[in-house]
This record gives sequence, structure tokens and C-alpha cells, in this order.
Amino acid sequence: MPDIIQLLPDSIANQIAAGEVIQRPASVVKELLENAIDAGADEVNLIIKDAGKTLIQIIDNGKGMSETDVRMSIERHATSKIASASDLFELKTMGFRGEALASIASIAHLDIRTKQTDGELGTLLQIEGSDVVNQEAVTCKKGTSMSVKNLFYNVPARRKFLKSDNVEMRHIIDEFERVAIPNPHIKLTFHHNNNEIFHLEKGTFRQRIVQVFGKRYNEKLVPIEEETDIVKISGFIGKPETAKKTRGEQFFFVNHRFIKSAYLNHAIQEALEDLIPRDVYPSYFLMLDVNPSFIDVNIHPTKTEIKFEDERAIYAILRSSVRQGIGKNNVAPSLDFEQETSFNVPLHPTGPIQMPEIKVNPNYNPFDSDNNSHKPTNSGYSKQQLTPQQQHNRDNWEKLYQVNPEMADSVKQVFNPDSDDEQQSNHLIIPDHNQQEQPSSKSKAFQVHAKYIIAHIKSGLVMIHQSRAHERILYERYLVAIDEQKGYSQQQLFPQTVQLQAGDAELVKSISTDLQAAGVDIREFGAQTFVIQGLPDYATNQDPQTFIDGIVEHYKNNLQELRLEKREALARSLAKRSAIKTGKVLMPEEMENLIDELFACKNPYTTPSGRTIINTFTIDQLDNIFDK
Ligand code: ADP
Ligand code: MG
Repeated sequence: MPDIIQLLPDSIANQIAAGEVIQRPASVVKELLENAIDAGADEVNLIIKDAGKTLIQIIDNGKGMSETDVRMSIERHATSKIASASDLFELKTMGFRGEALASIASIAHLDIRTKQTDGELGTLLQIEGSDVVNQEAVTCKKGTSMSVKNLFYNVPARRKFLKSDNVEMRHIIDEFERVAIPNPHIKLTFHHNNNEIFHLEKGTFRQRIVQVFGKRYNEKLVPIEEETDIVKISGFIGKPETAKKTRGEQFFFVNHRFIKSAYLNHAIQEALEDLIPRDVYPSYFLMLDVNPSFIDVNIHPTKTEIKFEDERAIYAILRSSVRQGIGKNNVAPSLDFEQETSFNVPLHPTGPIQMPEIKVNPNYNPFDSDNNSHKPTNSGYSKQQLTPQQQHNRDNWEKLYQVNPEMADSVKQVFNPDSDDEQQSNHLIIPDHNQQEQPSSKSKAFQVHAKYIIAHIKSGLVMIHQSRAHERILYERYLVAIDEQKGYSQQQLFPQTVQLQAGDAELVKSISTDLQAAGVDIREFGAQTFVIQGLPDYATNQDPQTFIDGIVEHYKNNLQELRLEKREALARSLAKRSAIKTGKVLMPEEMENLIDELFACKNPYTTPSGRTIINTFTIDQLDNIFDK
């Protein structure tokens, strides 16, 4: 038998290594930004075309490379950052493996222009798939410019695996932020297809966070400082009330390197235990400076996990410094997280209450069967064509609903928050035989604390959570609207602009077709600015900025935490944000409509996230309460 083992050519070995180091355009951005920082640059410009698929260029004003070094830089295991194994315990640089440039050079067209501080001429090196195709002396500025063109041009499988531009951009922005935030002493700009996405001037850590995430962050940050022998902690934690349902802005940087750590995250969650509920996530931006010899350096190039020698001590120090920071700054929780952020009406009102203005459709006829799903009634619930399943549900409901007419008359809605009458407001249900008889359809349901609707059924009564019921109805409707591209949009009298963070802006762009389909008429108007021309008819009274912020927040949560598919995630967020809230007083016909619509749903019993909408109490159960 002949021998069959042979050494792989370098170009293939590099391509294989590249598979690990460079997974997508964002990995190139990360590696090149880190190299620029390691080169001591204090100004770095990132230029991207077509989400990095056509061009990724990074220009820095760092120390540059000599003619020989630039040739060496693209060799595998070629690095200036460590010379011996012991250096691994003294690491102060972002890179040290000497793999990034070799990998990138093997799967793209790479142009490097570089000049050292004291050099007169610089060097241009052009590489195509690991082959140097040109090297010449050029005049150029001090520093290095790396252009990566046609990424994965020779790895079609990888190229095909790339996601849409919006998704790839989202990854690039994530990597950019992870480098930009812990390096406020570096001026950074970021352009995509000639639009400026970020322009970050040098400043303090706080200023950098505010530049990246928006001015609104300025008052939300509580400083955290602690210095011990093991670790120095500095940075900020978001005030408890800014905690979100998505993991959003959670950043740990260990020696200026972004890391993920469920363990340390837990320390923060625990420090805030009494201040925020378990299922929301605080935002934080924390720098941990640790002696490099206390860290396990065997970090996988693309992994962001890290191992500390003294993890438990760091946990304890972190937890106590967050507690102290919060205590010192006297930050008390000021929001009830059970409530939606857009809704701040107290459930148990204390002061005098204004009756909400309710417009009643004078032409409303509860028996009118002229259903049109695109024309909402004033209450916002429109009747719609029913599928056989929906009809079946509704028939069942109606059977259940048939009430003994005498009984129907004996219970009236008497809870009236406007009333001064002590007796009335203390008793929710008063039988009143003297009242003029009303059509039974109107006396069927009544509202309690502007939160629940109570209605008779043959066997007893049902309690319906009004806000959840509406969420279910809208959810099913939005799903259809998105699928069939026929959401009804109510045009705004004055189109309004909304501003989003760069990452959120990309996200909105990536779902804009579905948003349009659902009735959110949103158009791009600059890199992070959008114009809202119209909102779905259920959401017309909402402030567009708050509405879009809310949609983005819910959508991210649905996608990341619940791992829902896009369309489902969007329908849920839209339903959640546009549903009527607790606190909304409903007219009898609005309640009727709501009940009708609810029972026409495929699943009237729970919200899309599984929360109970309906509770039934049979007469037997009620009797039991009294006979105990
Ligand atoms: P590593 O960063 O792990 O050392 P890389 O492949 O990323 O490996 O880079 C190889 C070498 O090229 C670096 O060690 C550095 O000396 C040099 N280099 C890369 N990028 C730059 C840059 N922007 N400016 C100066 N030198 C650079
Ligand atoms: Mg590197």
C-alpha cells in the first residue's frame, strides 16, 4: 500500500482555520477593530458596503507595520503580541493568536495599506485567497487601512449561509458596540453604504454610553466603583426602573474585552433582587480590571466566555459594589413592573377620577350583521368574517351565554368611579328591580375596576380579563394581516419621526415589510430615523415613538428569549402594544363586542403567551362560597 498522508497546503489549512475564526462579516469587523486598538490607534473609521458582503474597511492611525511585518502579518501563527508561553500570563492585548489576518486573507480579497510613524513611504500589499498578488511602496497616512472585499468569494457554502443584510448588519453593530463602549478614549466612526451609523467622539465612559445608546440614558445610569486587590470595578448600572424584558444592554468588559458571563450576571441580578422582578433584565456597563495572570487565557477566538481564577470572590465583590452603588445613589424602585410601560393609570385610584372620554358610535347596532374587518367600530373591535372553527366557538359561547332573563335584569353595572356615593362604590353588585329595563344584550356584561368584565352565563358567571382578551383578539388579527398583507393603516394627520438606536433601526428595517403588512406605515428617513405615516387602527391614539419602542422591545424579547419565529413574534408584540389596557372604562356595547370577538378567536382562553383570559364560576361554586 502506498503512503497516503500528506501535509495540507497552507492556503487550505488557513481556510479551515478561517472556518472557526471568521464566521460572518461581523467576525472580520471584530478582528480588525481589535487589531487597530492593539496598534494603539486613537481614531478608527469603519466603512461597510452591503452589510460587509462587498466591503469591510478599517482605517486606523495606529503604529502601522514595516514592509517585512506586513508580509509576516498574513502568515498563520504570526503575531507581534506574544513571544513565549509565559507572555500568555501577561496579556494586555486583544489579539495574540496570530490567526485573524491569515484567515481573512485566505477567504477574501485583502488590501493592506500601512505606514509606520517614522517611515517616509508606506506599503501596499494585495492578497487574493492567501496569494500575494501585488506589493508596492505607496504614499499613505500613518497607520493602517485594511480593506476586505468579496468575503467568502472562494467558499460558496459560507457565502450562501450568510443571512439578509439587515441581520448581518445587526451582528456588525453588536461587535462594533462591544469595542466602542469600553474604549471611550478612541474616536470611532462607522459608515454603511455611505450612511453614518455612528460618530463617537472621544470622551468619558458615561459619554460613550450615552453616545451609543442615546441621550435618554444619561439620567438612567448609576455609577459603580470598587477597587480591591483582586479586581477593580468601574462603570454603570441602569436604574432599576429601566430594566427590560430583553437582555438588551448588558455589558461586562474584562480588561477591555467584552465577555459574557451568566455567573457574574447572576451576581447583579442578586444584588438587585429586591428592586426588580426575576423576569426582567437590568442594563449594565461594567469594566472589570483583573491581573491578566488571574485569567485563563485559553480563550477560543470567537468565544466570549472567560475563566477567572477567583470567580467566587469576584462574584461577591461585584454583588456588594452594585448594592452599594444603588444604595449610595438612593435609587428606589419607582415603577410597578406588572404594568406595561405605556400604561401608568393606577389600578386603585386615590384622587378624584375623570371619566375617560369615550366616543360612541351613534349608528352602532349590536344586531347589525354587516361585518367588515377593516372598518373598526369606535371601540376598536371590528366584527369579521368567521371561519367554521370560529363560528363553532362563538356558537358554543352563545349557548353558554343564554341567560335567564329575570336574572339578567337583577344585576346592573353599578360600579361608577365618578360617583360620590359611598354606598355605590363600596358595593359592586346591587340588585335593582326599580331600574328601567334595558335590552338584555346591554345588561349582560359589566366591568369591575376597569379591568375585568363579568358576564352571566347559564351555569353561573364568567370573568374576563379585558386587556388580555383584547390582546388575544388583536394577535389573531395581526397574524392574518401579516400573512395576507392586508393590515389596515390609519394615516396620521401629521406624520411623525421616530429615532431609534442603531441596532434597533436595523431590526426595524429587517421587519419593515411585515410591519407594513400589519398596518404600521413606517418609512426610512435616514440611518436611524423613520417617519410614521400611519398606525394600525387599534393603535391610532398611541404616541408613535412609544409605540415603536414598545414593539421593538417586545419583539426582541419574543425572538431572543422565547425563540419565536419572526411573524409570530411580531404579531405578539403588536397585539401586546395595541391592546386596550387595564384602566380603560368600556361602554356596554364595547364589552359586548369584546366578548363576541373573543369567542370568535381560535383560542379565547389564553393569551398568546399562555396567560389566562377567562375564569368561569358555576352557581355551585358560588353557592359553596356562601355555604362554607
Ligand atoms: P494577532 O492580533 O492575534 O496578533 P492577527 O492575525 O490579527 O493576529 O495580526 C497579526 C499581526 O499583524 C499582529 O500581531 C500585528 O503585529 C499586525 N497587525 C495586524 N493589524 C494591524 C494594524 N491595524 N496595525 C498594526 N499592526 C497590525
Ligand atoms: Mg488580531
